[in-house]
Amino acid sequence: MDRRVAVVGSLNMDLITRTARLPKIGETILGESIDYLPGGKGANQAVAAARLGCRVDMVGAVGADAFGDVLIAGLEEDGIETGSVRRTDVPTGIANIFSVGGDNCITVVPGANGTVTPDSLDDKAMAAIREADVVILQMEIPVETVTHVLAEAKKAGVRTILNPAPAQVLPDSLLADVDYLTPNETEFELLAGRRFSSDLELEVLMKEWEDRHGHALIVTLGERGCTFLEDGRMATIAPPKVKAVDTTGAGDCFNGALASGIAQEWPLRRSLEFAVAASSLAVTKFGAQAGMPTLEDVGVDG
Ligand code: ATP
Repeated sequence: MDRRVAVVGSLNMDLITRTARLPKIGETILGESIDYLPGGKGANQAVAAARLGCRVDMVGAVGADAFGDVLIAGLEEDGIETGSVRRTDVPTGIANIFSVGGDNCITVVPGANGTVTPDSLDDKAMAAIREADVVILQMEIPVETVTHVLAEAKKAGVRTILNPAPAQVLPDSLLADVDYLTPNETEFELLAGRRFSSDLELEVLMKEWEDRHGHALIVTLGERGCTFLEDGRMATIAPPKVKAVDTTGAGDCFNGALASGIAQEWPLRRSLEFAVAASSLAVTKFGAQAGMPTLEDVGVDG
């Protein structure tokens, strides 16, 4: 498939320390294990789209350090074009994850991701964006860059997906250049400025949102799949029952797969069915990028 997806976003090394308890301030304790797993919402979404058959350009930044080398090499193994992943003096972004029992405490340090400013995007990066069929962005790089890239993509007639994660309130001017917005439930509550406690309330909020912003809104619902407005009514696409072992990166897989469907000019419902099928497979494997399925896994010919 020669459909092109440009992902403009974060690359992180996830450092996962398993420990029986958290240390107190000033205390040192021994942990049980450490894992180094490539992550960052941008890179995860790039891997998902590439495994699902797209030609993917990653636009972002890593440090001139060993983590940066590993992250770039990992993307290249999946055939992702990394010429627009800039090396900088600022260290590679990391997520420090303390896993205690089944719960996580996480500190994300954006590092190099914070250097992805509008001015840092060179001609090659801008060409990858303008020549793509679909551009995907998330909120782990500076908001000015997300705004700038959405506007440039729109001018060039490229369809845009914004995965508004981590959750934050977004200006209407930025949202005007989005074609597909993909929050999860908590992100949507924050964006809408209201909570919902039933599908009926969610449907009302979704209609108000689409009337105001004019783009397609897709809310992901975890193990319930996703919901969107079809002919003005709320429609839900449920995943098959699976044994979830690690939901990290489920949303990223969903977004990469959605981009792939849209890049292939599939109707929205078909693209969403594909995204739900792919992301429900992703949760059956450990690791965000390691768990991303291929076209063969999803049962679609490339
Ligand atoms: P994360 O932050 O964990 O990556 P998210 O909060 O952005 O995920 P979710 O709504 O939790 O996004 O999940 C995205 C998609 O992943 C869902 O639409 C669904 O298709 C799939 N998914 C998530 N959890 C499960 C599950 N337990 N079983 C099957 N599919 C799931």
